[in-house]
Amino acid sequence: MTIYPALFIDVGKVRHNAQIISGLLGRQGMRLVGVAKGVMGHVAVAKAMVDGGATAIGDSRTETLRQLRDLGFEGETVLLRAPSPSRALEAVQVADVSLNSEPATVRLLGDAASRLGRRHSVILMVDLGDLREGVIVEKASEAAREMSKVPWIELIGVGVNLACYGGVVPTRDKMETLLSVRKQIEAVVGKPLVRVSGGNSANMPLVLRGEIPQGVTELRIGESILLGTEAVERTAVPGCHPDAFTLAAEVIEVAEKPSVPAGKIGQNAFGVVPTFKDRGRRRRAICAVGRQDLDPDSLSPLDNGIEILGASSDHLICDVEGARQPVKPGDILSFIPGYSSLLRAATSPFVAKVVRG
Ligand SMILES: *Cc1c(COP(=O)(O)O)cnc(C)c1O
Repeated sequence: MTIYPALFIDVGKVRHNAQIISGLLGRQGMRLVGVAKGVMGHVAVAKAMVDGGATAIGDSRTETLRQLRDLGFEGETVLLRAPSPSRALEAVQVADVSLNSEPATVRLLGDAASRLGRRHSVILMVDLGDLREGVIVEKASEAAREMSKVPWIELIGVGVNLACYGGVVPTRDKMETLLSVRKQIEAVVGKPLVRVSGGNSANMPLVLRGEIPQGVTELRIGESILLGTEAVERTAVPGCHPDAFTLAAEVIEVAEKPSVPAGKIGQNAFGVVPTFKDRGRRRRAICAVGRQDLDPDSLSPLDNGIEILGASSDHLICDVEGARQPVKPGDILSFIPGYSSLLRAATSPFVAKVVRG
């Protein structure tokens, strides 16, 4: 018997999406690093990515990479968030490669690698304007020179991450800049950098237009595999399934109520003063799931006659006036999660994870 709320994971669809994307990248000379952090590194999902052609698995957290290793994953692992200095040993234990911007941290990784007797590879992250991680272009050569001198550490490449904090859109120009930074660094360290890690799912529009310049060797892709969308305008990647994940929740109350609250309106549970449109009395259903498990603004009902009105920590309120079937307590409503809902559902201990396909 399924316990609700539940996140249904169709690993066949994840594998298919990974196949489509690894095919697209492969034809343009790039390999696919499958990113599983949107589902807390779920092992069946990571495995489906590898079955679909990903040649490595990336995640931001050492805990999830360790879990992958403990469950027998033997492929290449990439730590996407720069290692915390206090966790350098852990980083080297669970990741073959890490993305870095601080030479001092890379020295700690070198100490850890030497203690463990296992070499560790680093990619130097360059900030090309998004203002999240990375050294600025003018400092790249100096940082690379310091990293390349650390014993037990292999500086294997450069990378960039856009569209995550500043919303900066990846362009051919940005990719060319990254390639020129690589060239500059190669001249300084006196050896070739074999990896150029060009970005995330926000690079997919460039891939689809064939605009990634030669020399970029890999992309780190999560969202496009998981949800079938690119991350600039959230349009569909042709051929990918949009419903590899569905979130299902149980109805606990159905009632006809006014569409505007009665009384003086102040802040709701999350510090926002809500506004309402008077649509008269409407049939509403409450599902036993809430902001602890999902983001109501990143969720689409499978039945497009159902509308999400809002959520508190533990209640999701839907307008079911136009539902295809009359809704009653005990019924299960299904939704397609966006990235933010997927992240929360995957992380919430209250949401059962059910693997199918
Ligand atoms: C999360 C992340 C990715 C993957 O992002 P998606 O948009 O899910 O493809 C890639 N690189 C880094 C550094 C990340 O933090």
